[in-house]
Amino acid sequence: MAVETAAYSELTDIQRDITEMVRQFADEQIIPNAEHYDHEDSFPEPIVEQMKELGLFGVTIPEEYGGMGLDLTTYAMIVEELSRGWISISGVVNTHFIGSYLLMKFGTDEQKQYFLPKMATGEIRAAFSLSEPEVGSDVQGIKATAKKGEDGAWELNGQKMWVTNGLGSGVVFVLMKTDTKADPPYKGMTCFITEKEPWKEAGEGDYAGLTIPPKIKKMGYKGVESTELVYDGYRCPPERVLGGEEAGVGQGFVQMMDALEVGRVNVAARGVGIAQRALELALRYSQERKTFGKPIAQHQAIQFKLADMATKVEAARLLTRKAARMKDAGERSDLEAGMAKLLASETGKECVEECFRIHGGYGYSKEYEIERLYRDAPLLLIGEGTSEIQRMVIGKKLLQRHKI
Ligand SMILES: Cc1cc2nc3c(=O)[nH]c(=O)nc-3n(C[C@H](O)[C@H](O)[C@H](O)COP(=O)(O)OP(=O)(O)OC[C@H]3O[C@@H](n4cnc5c(N)ncnc54)[C@H](O)[C@@H]3O)c2cc1C
Repeated sequence: MAVETAAYSELTDIQRDITEMVRQFADEQIIPNAEHYDHEDSFPEPIVEQMKELGLFGVTIPEEYGGMGLDLTTYAMIVEELSRGWISISGVVNTHFIGSYLLMKFGTDEQKQYFLPKMATGEIRAAFSLSEPEVGSDVQGIKATAKKGEDGAWELNGQKMWVTNGLGSGVVFVLMKTDTKADPPYKGMTCFITEKEPWKEAGEGDYAGLTIPPKIKKMGYKGVESTELVYDGYRCPPERVLGGEEAGVGQGFVQMMDALEVGRVNVAARGVGIAQRALELALRYSQERKTFGKPIAQHQAIQFKLADMATKVEAARLLTRKAARMKDAGERSDLEAGMAKLLASETGKECVEECFRIHGGYGYSKEYEIERLYRDAPLLLIGEGTSEIQRMVIGKKLLQRHKI
């Protein structure tokens, strides 16, 4: 006897509509143009302008500030689609999303009112800066400092490294040492909201004391700029301490680490997106290319590669969405976010490599999309905590949760 059942769907109506819209955008606007911007290493301005029109800079910003007010799970689905198109496009929104999260969670009312409406439209974009030339994983080792002057303003000094959107952003959330003697060091760190003029290399007037050296030349992840930031006497008013001076001084490390937890879900979604694209390219090419009288997809060795890729993509996607849903439900998700970031970024790299192998010699040619993916995928193993750091986080949390 037939039993009527509703078709299984993991997605809500809103999630289905918005991911379909972004997938179409990726197919029509991102994928056909990525090669051009990648080869020139130039900022994909027309694509970014369309993203503003689609409201993609305000996905998680509450409606009262002009955003869409959607949750992390839906945001992760959008990021997957953008990264399927090109991870550099998701890089343009990634640090912006972290900046808006910091404001929504820790910002004062004035800070939210001032920044969030402009960020929701993409009028200004945000960057997020922890790393320094000598410090990446070990954030407590940062050296850049902020000192309070007699007029009440803070003076920022020091060099920051690897700042995504470092030149084009209008605001940088930057971690500085405000108490060099604090023990442990993380208690002496503060997050400053530093404004700047987008695309200007040397700040003037209110923004004097911040210079941005030429962008770092990279293997992949082109189009979106990564820069150093040199703070040399930059004056930051006290109301630009994240959360206000009273609540915010000394809280920067904790605030930034909280933001990295959602950032890891975001990077995991990027890993799923690039892995998904590699699978699609492999499925197509393996049915077109013939060897020994048949399409290579008919050789069992190739089918096994496709099977492993598809299985890993699905597992990484499920774990990423689980971590996002837990965070949306207000549960601790540090363990799951670390696992999702680890699995999805490694899956991204593995699927891209398998797709590259399936393409044979053509995988090495710039004529084929997989060549770009091959240069892009390794970034995800590094940014927002390397795979080694994720394993450290996972191991530590496991032992905390299962202490005997
Ligand atoms: C393209 C790009 C964009 C970036 N964007 C930003 C950004 O917008 N903002 C920002 O703040 N940073 C950004 N980063 C910096 C990034 O977060 C760091 O590169 C990353 O955290 C690793 O730090 P590191 O490069 O200093 O490596 P290190 O910390 O020096 O690590 C070197 C190696 O040692 C390993 N390692 C370190 N400590 C341990 C340990 N305790 N146990 C075992 N292994 C260990 C690491 O896993 C790695 O393999 C970006 C980096 C890149 C490449």
